[in-house]
Amino acid sequence: MTTRFRRITVREGMLLPGAAGWGEFCPFAEYDDREAVAWLAAAREAAEIGWPEPVRDRVPVNCIVPAVGPEHAQRIVRASGCTTAKVKVAEPGGRPGDDEERVVAVRDALGPAGKVRVDANGAWSADDAVAAIATLSEAAGGLEYVEQPCASVEDLARVRRAVDVPIAADESIRRAEDPMRVVRAEAADIVVLKVSPLGGVRRALRIAQECGLPVVVSSAVETSVGLAAGLALAGALPELHHACGLGTASLLAADVVAHDARLVPSGGSLPVPRRAPEPVRRGENGAEPERDAWWRARYERVAALADAVSTG
Ligand SMILES: [Mg+2]
Repeated sequence: MTTRFRRITVREGMLLPGAAGWGEFCPFAEYDDREAVAWLAAAREAAEIGWPEPVRDRVPVNCIVPAVGPEHAQRIVRASGCTTAKVKVAEPGGRPGDDEERVVAVRDALGPAGKVRVDANGAWSADDAVAAIATLSEAAGGLEYVEQPCASVEDLARVRRAVDVPIAADESIRRAEDPMRVVRAEAADIVVLKVSPLGGVRRALRIAQECGLPVVVSSAVETSVGLAAGLALAGALPELHHACGLGTASLLAADVVAHDARLVPSGGSLPVPRRAPEPVRRGENGAEPERDAWWRARYERVAALADAVSTG
């Protein structure tokens, strides 16, 4: 990765070929086999079945600003060509005032017409969230929304009742046994859906329909192969009111597809592909052969678990 993000510096995964194309199986290393079953289902859908027909051919995307200093944040925003920026806040190790400085810098780079959203990855308590959202919203001259200010659904609901800024649920959807709890608890205004952890484009479309809330499609920091599935979801949603978090290819120092096939935003948007771009050969894509055995073993275990689940 070009910058430490989500506390990792190396992003790993496995590419699966099939009759419909390629799928990416890339659960984070700390996820157990049970949680990885949905990730495998998403990769298999891409490889073996393909995706539903899209209703749009391009998707607006936000740029992403990790926990970097204000000048670096501005460079990221200006280079992106995006009119919406997602700013990571409440990162461990940050100094007080860092988040405020970063959103001010981002607003400055975007101009008044741009949209600033922040993502706390569940790091705040409810009280801290209410205070931080007031400070950041004021500093940014308004926030589009705050993503996952707190970890629990109860705290999300509490914060949502206390602030005017819309609340988006991310971890509360994708790592939950029951994604609908957020809706029943009136804990969010917007849901963030990710294809890989939710088990594929079709399952994510069903969750979107059941939620009945505006959707933002985000990546799980996949390569361009996995990003294609996120774009297929964003392309197939009946309605799309927000820029999506799919412009993340630039977080990776290397991709697995040819340079001109990379799904890197141009003019603040990405095309909706009908299938994933073709991977290039090993040796040209930055993969480390010594990790093969670990991934093959993981794949075998998760595939066995998936078969056990599907046969009851
Ligand atoms: Mg998030």
